[in-house]
Amino acid sequence: MRITGVESTGLFTGSAGRPLQIIRITLEGTPGDQPGGSPGSLLVAGPGIDSAGPFGMEMPAPGESRAAEIGVAVGDQHRPGAQAPVTVIAQAGNARAEHSAMITVAEPGWTMWMVSHFHYDPVWWSTQGQFTEARLVLPDEDGALPDTRTAFDLVRLHLEKARRDADYKFVLAEIDYLKPHFDAFPEDRALVRSLLADGRLELVGGTYNEPNTNLTGAEVTIRNAVYGVGFQRDVLGGDPRSAWMLDSFGHDPGFPGLMAAAGLTSSSWARGPFHQWGPADNARMQFPAEFEWLSPDGTGVLTAYMTNHYGAGWQLHTTKDLPSAEAAALDQFRSLAVAAATRNVMLPVGGDHVIPARWVTDIHRSWNSKYVWPRFVTAIPREFFDAVRAQAGSQASGPGAGPTAGRRGITPQTRDMNPLYTGKEVSYIDTKQAHRAGETAVSEGERLATLAWLAGRAYPAAALDKAWRLLAYGAHHDAVTGTESDQVYLDLLAGWREAYELGDCARRMAVAALAASAAAGSRSVVVVNGLASERTGMATVTVTLDEPGTPWLAVIDSEVAADLPAGTLAAEVPALAEGVRRHPDGSLAQVTLTFRASRVPALGVRRYALRAVPATVSTDTAPTDAGWRDIAGSTAIENEAVAVTADAARGGTLSITDRRTGRPVLRGPGNELVLQPEYDKHPRWGEGPWHLSPRGAGAGSASGPASVRAQRSPVGSRDAAVGRRRAGGVPHARRRDHRP
Ligand SMILES: [Zn+2]
Repeated sequence: MRITGVESTGLFTGSAGRPLQIIRITLEGTPGDQPGGSPGSLLVAGPGIDSAGPFGMEMPAPGESRAAEIGVAVGDQHRPGAQAPVTVIAQAGNARAEHSAMITVAEPGWTMWMVSHFHYDPVWWSTQGQFTEARLVLPDEDGALPDTRTAFDLVRLHLEKARRDADYKFVLAEIDYLKPHFDAFPEDRALVRSLLADGRLELVGGTYNEPNTNLTGAEVTIRNAVYGVGFQRDVLGGDPRSAWMLDSFGHDPGFPGLMAAAGLTSSSWARGPFHQWGPADNARMQFPAEFEWLSPDGTGVLTAYMTNHYGAGWQLHTTKDLPSAEAAALDQFRSLAVAAATRNVMLPVGGDHVIPARWVTDIHRSWNSKYVWPRFVTAIPREFFDAVRAQAGSQASGPGAGPTAGRRGITPQTRDMNPLYTGKEVSYIDTKQAHRAGETAVSEGERLATLAWLAGRAYPAAALDKAWRLLAYGAHHDAVTGTESDQVYLDLLAGWREAYELGDCARRMAVAALAASAAAGSRSVVVVNGLASERTGMATVTVTLDEPGTPWLAVIDSEVAADLPAGTLAAEVPALAEGVRRHPDGSLAQVTLTFRASRVPALGVRRYALRAVPATVSTDTAPTDAGWRDIAGSTAIENEAVAVTADAARGGTLSITDRRTGRPVLRGPGNELVLQPEYDKHPRWGEGPWHLSPRGAGAGSASGPASVRAQRSPVGSRDAAVGRRRAGGVPHARRRDHRP
């Protein structure tokens, strides 16, 4: 016989107090050996390595190979990850073989926490309505029922698995299905609550859904947590601790701080520092998978990055039998351990909209009956995070983990976890604009309605509550990202429209109430500042005069005018007049005025009077000069800080000069419009609108001429360019308003 293989594994038998590392030895029978199956023995020994006597095994027949596993005690002089020399001796009858080899010393004490889950996208290829349909499930063409189901089916199947199998543990997450399920299936509530109490079910997320927080405002992220924590904790009775952002396509750097402020203590997600699918080789990660994710304000949460993606453990489900599933689990463990900060790894066992994975509880029972370390246990995330915290700071190293030695432990990470899926920054751009318009309207409506309420008006609580829910819903990583299907897009539009209208209605009603008390009956403009800081900015108002007789209107700074003699126009504020309509007698019927409103107080108002004045008072304020006028012979405009020149030969693109230093601000033509053809899908990934897939540099407006005009008005200057792209002839028009 001869010894053909000595393989060190990261597996241990024995006991927690005296773990024995398993060495796998392969023997090959040679001519003259006894028949296969004859009794023989194996011995492994070396400095500080002891197999505690020979192990019996059945020997291979001549020409046959057989493997045996032997547990050896490894002395303290051998560090995990180090190489240790051993001698292996096989004996059967008079035959004897001896072989020298090196083994890699493994480390005991590791645990893989297998967290069963399903990822849920209520607004991807189907609408939320379709995803929550209860429908008859029919077998696929191979006769099997599909692994992916709709929301109610999924919750029912995971609950049913937990009811039948005491070792099953799992998580539920988004309000998108939790709330409909809670309402539609009251008979399940007792089971949900008992599983929560038993620590076999954890409600994760602490948010309404998995939002894409780098495309939305922080206030929407806050509300996402308010509604998420509110429902999961106060309605369902859970204890949400982990922001569960499995699939989020972008991360606001402030997100961990906001989650910490919401009372969460951890987060976990799959897409981030190594783009969409992870580092591929976990040894290449610059920092361990578990880290303290810090926002710019210095607060944050312990975070577990899913280096092998949130679908990593679904491989267990796809194997044909338990040994194959255990082998797949071991593969995952070895890969995850390379990047682990402590001797704990989390294996997310699930996928998109999937049923409970096969084998996970079988592995839990079978594996741990064979091995002391590593343990493969079904778990909920808090068990994993608690274990990581308990071990944090230890300088452990993993099985065969030489490349990562010295990089363990929890480190603070402040890096930007973007960019991710760059196509999502631009796809369905109208919905991002709608979302932002809605955010502004709802948050301003909320603040101003509070002021109006203090003045005695009713507060539109129900309307604003619904508007925030709609915005939280639209912040989903398949919604505001523009990665949804066309039918979902149509479905979502109504939500953004409704959120905007609810917020804008609250804002308008509050402004009307505040203006009514500030205007005090005179003809005036009340400028309202919805921000919590003093603000100076351009204000635009359209004034309609039903009765003829007013030649022109001047904007008067009422606060200054109050100190001036009547009739003095020294407090007149320069205003741009556009859209002038007149009565038949030539007097003013309508005008849109734009002026600079100065130092409007935080969450306050400032009144500007509109005073009737003669049509021609002076050259500067005459109505004919109150609109835009061409600056003859020039394409340059400037203020005290910068000078801007439009280049007619290069499509009206801009050069900007810092007037204080005389230096150009831009290296190339500014404000260029570039058209790029795109691949219809990503050439490598074969995927859609979440990637940017340009097919070349494209054609820019600087490649052709344009007609350019510089214009001046009472409130500022602007450059306007109209040109035609040379190739293809797509017209483009641009205007740059540049005001003092
Ligand atoms: Zn998703």
